[in-house]
Amino acid sequence: MTTQHTRIAIVGGGLAGLVAAWKLQQQGVRDVVLFEARANVGGRILSVDSRGSSVDMALPALDRFDLGPSWFWPSMQPQLDRLVAELGLERFEQFEDGDLLVEHSAEQSPQRVRGYVNNPTSMRLAGGTGALVAALHARLDAAVVRTGQTVRQLRLGSTHVELTVDDAAGDPTIWHDEQVLLAVPPRLAATRMQFDPPLPPHLARRWQGTPTWMAPHAKYVAVYDTPFWREKGLSGGARSGAGPMGEIHDVSIPGGHAALFGFVGVPARVRRQVSDEVLRTHCRAQLVRLFGKRAGAPMGDALKDWAADPLTATDDDQDASDHHAAAPPCSADAGEWHGRLIGIGSEWSVQFPGYLAGAVDAAERGVQQIRTSNDRWTKEPAA
Ligand SMILES: Cc1cc2nc3c(=O)[nH]c(=O)nc-3n(C[C@H](O)[C@H](O)[C@H](O)COP(=O)(O)OP(=O)(O)OC[C@H]3O[C@@H](n4cnc5c(N)ncnc54)[C@H](O)[C@@H]3O)c2cc1C
Repeated sequence: MTTQHTRIAIVGGGLAGLVAAWKLQQQGVRDVVLFEARANVGGRILSVDSRGSSVDMALPALDRFDLGPSWFWPSMQPQLDRLVAELGLERFEQFEDGDLLVEHSAEQSPQRVRGYVNNPTSMRLAGGTGALVAALHARLDAAVVRTGQTVRQLRLGSTHVELTVDDAAGDPTIWHDEQVLLAVPPRLAATRMQFDPPLPPHLARRWQGTPTWMAPHAKYVAVYDTPFWREKGLSGGARSGAGPMGEIHDVSIPGGHAALFGFVGVPARVRRQVSDEVLRTHCRAQLVRLFGKRAGAPMGDALKDWAADPLTATDDDQDASDHHAAAPPCSADAGEWHGRLIGIGSEWSVQFPGYLAGAVDAAERGVQQIRTSNDRWTKEPAA
């Protein structure tokens, strides 16, 4: 088996991994490789087209509907907002005009109440949150991002970290890197990757004990020709005790198709006993109860159960947690792994753990940290 060498390996091609790769490239560091286990970059940022079909996340398009994150809050998250501006992306306010529907039980008709506007306003991106992924991917050197590559083991050598990376067929390649940025959720790293020597026990415990934000959840989206609910003065927002969706929002695209999405309130362990098709049928039926017959015939719909995705959730993520966990330490403060391994997934952000803004924060800090810990870097001309 041949061994390949790079200075820095990034494990994970979600927002954190892509931001780190781009920041390194901007600083003239070109000896970088990014391994992404899925066939697509983006991680928890995942979109479908207006038919509800999968898309290539590396390609931008206007009509994209998020099965992962949809919102950010620029006034509280200036670092992410700066990235959005730097990438030339357009942002717009979440549509919230009109009345909200409240469904107390399946037996009672939904009640119409005056809607409210979130403060600060939730913002969305033209082309969906995937626009961030496509814009970052387009700026990276073609050789950097390697999809379908799962990092299985990290072994410490005297001058390098040895990564065992499996391709989609399970065939391994060995890589030697001076430093590794772990752009995956901490719990996933501690559960699914082998570290030799093992991580310091207190660090492994903290990583293992950090819930991955939104991993227990599932999201359903239905796409329509027009936002017909607005004709009745409805915002498209709903809250329901009857389910299966507990919270519904309008995610129409200005200049594109209309859409509604909902967070499925049925716990992950119960969802596992029901097929996606059955759950989608129940979601459509709920939309008919709330918004009328037209809601039962979307031009496309999609459901993503994040709890069932082994590249996001572990067994410990099957039960919902409603708060953002405090960030665990992102590296070993002493011992053999010290200075070799830095966690940069969103959950490692002290300021915004679990959020998109956290992925940007943790990635930028990680890049800064390896810069300052490694004065052997020789600068090459910036891109
Ligand atoms: C349904 C849902 C709604 C959300 N809503 C919002 C919102 O509105 N606003 C907000 O701010 N945040 C929201 N979030 C959270 C947001 O999506 C995350 O904070 C952010 O996307 C995390 O990015 P990341 O790069 O840190 O991790 P991830 O996106 O999880 O990326 C990790 C990557 O690592 C890859 N990987 C895993 N294991 C390996 C391995 N062994 N080898 C190689 N690659 C590997 C994965 O495939 C993945 O691509 C939501 C999340 C979900 C699921």
